[in-house]
Amino acid sequence: MTRVLRTRAELRAALASAARPVGLVPTMGWLHDGHRSLLRRARAENATTVVTIFVNPRQFDDEGDYTRYPRDTAADLAVCEAEGADIVWLPDPDEVYPPGFDTTVSVGAVARPLEGAARAGHFDGVATVVAILFALVGAERAYFGQKDAQQVMVIRRMAADLALPTEVVACPTVREPDGLALSSRNVHLNEQERAAAPVLGRALAAAAEAYAAGEREAPVLRALMEEVLALEPLAQVEYVSVADALTLVELDRVTGAALLSLAVIFGTTRLIDNRLIGGED
Ligand code: AMP
Repeated sequence: MTRVLRTRAELRAALASAARPVGLVPTMGWLHDGHRSLLRRARAENATTVVTIFVNPRQFDDEGDYTRYPRDTAADLAVCEAEGADIVWLPDPDEVYPPGFDTTVSVGAVARPLEGAARAGHFDGVATVVAILFALVGAERAYFGQKDAQQVMVIRRMAADLALPTEVVACPTVREPDGLALSSRNVHLNEQERAAAPVLGRALAAAAEAYAAGEREAPVLRALMEEVLALEPLAQVEYVSVADALTLVELDRVTGAALLSLAVIFGTTRLIDNRLIGGED
């Protein structure tokens, strides 16, 4: 049975008697197979699984984007139930940010480029809400998707710097058969945009293949991704990056693990994707 809780007090009370270890899966709802994969992993590795569903206003730099973010609580609860989540926390904004709330967690260098540069305040919002969730749940482990690779890096940095005892676990990106990374935002794509969207995966694949064939010049890899994206008229490129996988500093040459990443707008929908090259994988 999945217990659905709404207040901080209810969550604390439920956790006081929960079997350990506890695995936490923070989400903004509109749950899809990517979220399910996190839930399954949390369930496999922990005695109690806690899912949080909260569309966090502080991580949106655009009010319209926040308002139109898709929401379907009934469907989300059905997914949590089907995946055997023990506890779902479904708070109102006031419960996460009570009156008088006045603290921001701000991560440094790793939060600045890419998504941090494109979305002002985004990672402050993410780090702040995740710090609250880590404190409230006190989980042994928390599960995040590699789909949001920079987010994982920001949260790892925060957890290490603030000595938070929750281990951050990154899980592989779940994709549609045509390579499009699952995202709650995909629901906003119209038919033409949906047909065009797999170009992100193709652009990343082109650079990864060139790397595998021996190409090490980062400008060449960026240009390859841009060329593939340019073939798709509906794709409006926001950034294309080849960065050090540990620092996210843009590279001239790939000599170790590197993160290929991109952000592309289709109509009014902004999609991101990434792929690791070099290093161990
Ligand atoms: P969101 O609800 O979009 O905030 O995502 C909640 C968690 O699910 C985050 O850790 C995301 O990185 C992760 N996630 C989102 N999409 C995917 C996906 N396609 N594959 C794996 N994890 C994902």
